[in-house]
Amino acid sequence: MTDLYSVMGNPIGHSKSPQIHAAFAAQARDNMLYTAQLVPLEGFADAAERFFSHGGAGLNITVPFKEDAYRFAGEYTERAKRAQAVNTLKRMADGTVLADNTDGVGLVRDLTVNHQVELAGKRILLLGAGGAVRGVLQPLLEQQPAELVIANRTVSKAAALAEDFADLGNVSGCGFTEVEGAFDVIINGTSASLSGELPPLPVSALTPATVCYDMMYGSGLTVFNQWAQDNGVTTTIDGLGMLVEQAAEAFTLWRGHRPQTHNVIAALRNERRTHR
Ligand code: NDP
Repeated sequence: MTDLYSVMGNPIGHSKSPQIHAAFAAQARDNMLYTAQLVPLEGFADAAERFFSHGGAGLNITVPFKEDAYRFAGEYTERAKRAQAVNTLKRMADGTVLADNTDGVGLVRDLTVNHQVELAGKRILLLGAGGAVRGVLQPLLEQQPAELVIANRTVSKAAALAEDFADLGNVSGCGFTEVEGAFDVIINGTSASLSGELPPLPVSALTPATVCYDMMYGSGLTVFNQWAQDNGVTTTIDGLGMLVEQAAEAFTLWRGHRPQTHNVIAALRNERRTHR
């Protein structure tokens, strides 16, 4: 029997998830079908209920339904509870729906495994305080950085997030211009790059050895990574690897075996290059 999976979002046309999961399924010859569904803004719970009652095995959830998906679920992984927003749902054998947030593990795997970036003992700056940042905080803090600073345009949101996660490590919140000293790793989790804007960070946050990571991806360098390179940074990474790794983590939760990601990341990069 074919197992059914889907990604729900609004908009959804841009989603690469069907292509990524089809590639994972092909590797192990898994008999599964993964579709994309455009869901009306007020309609997530109905759509998810319908999907699971018709035998759906698992869902991915993207903007703007990650909080709705959290409320829909009946069981949670520890990191999902912390994030209060989830990108993965799985129907369990007893019919309950388990929620997970795989974004953070995806980011950490891309940094530490694909790019060999050490996070333990390092000074990390995380830009933004929205859903993506909330989702990555626990997995990042589990890497035991020396310090993690959250900087955001709305300072109160950075401070509130830092307080929520203070029991997991040395974490603080501030505004972009209040950032002090240089960092080993800077991760842009704002959506500023989407509109071609830059968080107004002091250049003193960078050294040539700083690793700059933009969760956003697209064709060519993001505005943030371009700024980093213009200021002497040699290692800049975009969020394509995170996208594939979070999908691999969801696939592993659903299917019980982990797919290879390297070829899938390379194929997507290649496709992007040829479509530029
Ligand atoms: P949210 O809308 O929840 O949060 C947006 C954040 O960006 C807020 O902190 C907001 O600040 C900040 N922001 C928006 N515009 C600007 C600006 N012009 N200058 C400075 N800060 C700004 O979005 P998400 O957290 O869901 O997503 C953030 C980014 O992460 C997106 O680009 C998304 O594509 C990417 N992402 C990538 C993933 C991947 O797999 N690669 C997975 C998930 C997300 P304020 O609080 O002041 O409004």
